[in-house]
Amino acid sequence: MAEIRLVNVDKSYDGKNWIIKDLNLHIYDTEFVVLVGPSGCGKSTTLRMIAGLEEATGGDIFIGDTRVNDTPPKDRNIAMVFQNYALYPHYSVYKNMAFSLKLKRMSKAEIDSRIQAASEILGLQPYLDRKPKALSGGQRQRVALGRALVRNPAVFLLDEPLSNLDAKLRNQMRSEISKLHNRLKTTFVYVTHDQVEAMTMGERICVMNEGKIMQYDKPQVLYEKPANLFVAGFLGTPQMNMLPGVLRQEAGTAFVEEKGHRHIIPENKIRDVDLTPFIDKDVIIGLRPESVRLVDNGADTSRLRATVDLVELLGAEAQLLLNYEGNTLTARSPVKSHVALEEAVSLGFDMQDAHLFDKESENAIFN
Ligand code: ADP
Ligand code: MG
Repeated sequence: MAEIRLVNVDKSYDGKNWIIKDLNLHIYDTEFVVLVGPSGCGKSTTLRMIAGLEEATGGDIFIGDTRVNDTPPKDRNIAMVFQNYALYPHYSVYKNMAFSLKLKRMSKAEIDSRIQAASEILGLQPYLDRKPKALSGGQRQRVALGRALVRNPAVFLLDEPLSNLDAKLRNQMRSEISKLHNRLKTTFVYVTHDQVEAMTMGERICVMNEGKIMQYDKPQVLYEKPANLFVAGFLGTPQMNMLPGVLRQEAGTAFVEEKGHRHIIPENKIRDVDLTPFIDKDVIIGLRPESVRLVDNGADTSRLRATVDLVELLGAEAQLLLNYEGNTLTARSPVKSHVALEEAVSLGFDMQDAHLFDKESENAIFN
């Protein structure tokens, strides 16, 4: 068991391009933390620095109370699981799992008892004599997990371990890994580019972009209170709608002016927010698809009008792509409401659930 701390960590491979910039990350003992972000943002580099497979260019890395910058990987008490499994093809499942323990000169009896325990947890008992090529992708990934498990590490590091599996198996393995964490009560750091994987598995999620942490918090907080446009756009399917406008305040009422429409901000949303620096500035309204509603086409000319560009049936619900005065918006509607392609509809925005971002800094003004 161990906590992990990265303090002012930088990484450059060539001394010119900074892949990781001043990264500060505290992972609690026994926590399941997911590092998520687009390809190339530095997730693997961060994980490999924790593992000791890459050296940090600057800053300090702690595992438990020990600064490990100069500690070789084998002495860090970590185990790493990779996307490509990295199994030894000529060894049986049993030997694959035994390999690192033999290197530690562990007794045969101890090795056997650890392998039996791990293969029971992972359902690998029937396959212990097989070679990797005689296993399915899911079984191979389980062996890779087993090989980590037998080492009894203080920290599990997993780098996109499910990316090579098909969707159904990925779902199943996702919950198996979560269960494994519950059972072991060990620190897990899990890298993925898949926001759904992150949201379903992480106790806390560290959203990264271009070598920096965009936000680090519980999944619910990231979804409900995104700190900036990047996090707002990265998490949630379909994506949050983003509408540009200008923040105004008249006679004590705050609203966003957007193409001649006034979207009034409910008083309770801004009770504790100082809007002054943002008045008359460019802002972005963020609306989740569930906050864009179809309303009855009435005679009221002030209604927001849109046309339906695409209807996707998702079972009980339909997802609608709407053309709203040149902006594309996503909305959801009950299937029974029967909207047709190119139909003119009227919209309501639930401003009570809206998010507002400063266009310049991209930071949230309120959520
Ligand atoms: P992620 O895992 O988030 O996709 P990586 O950490 O693998 O991203 O890579 C971050 C950046 O570092 C990328 O631009 C990548 O090209 C670069 N990079 C990764 N490994 C090396 C390396 N060994 N040498 C030079 N550049 C690298
Ligand atoms: Mg990677």
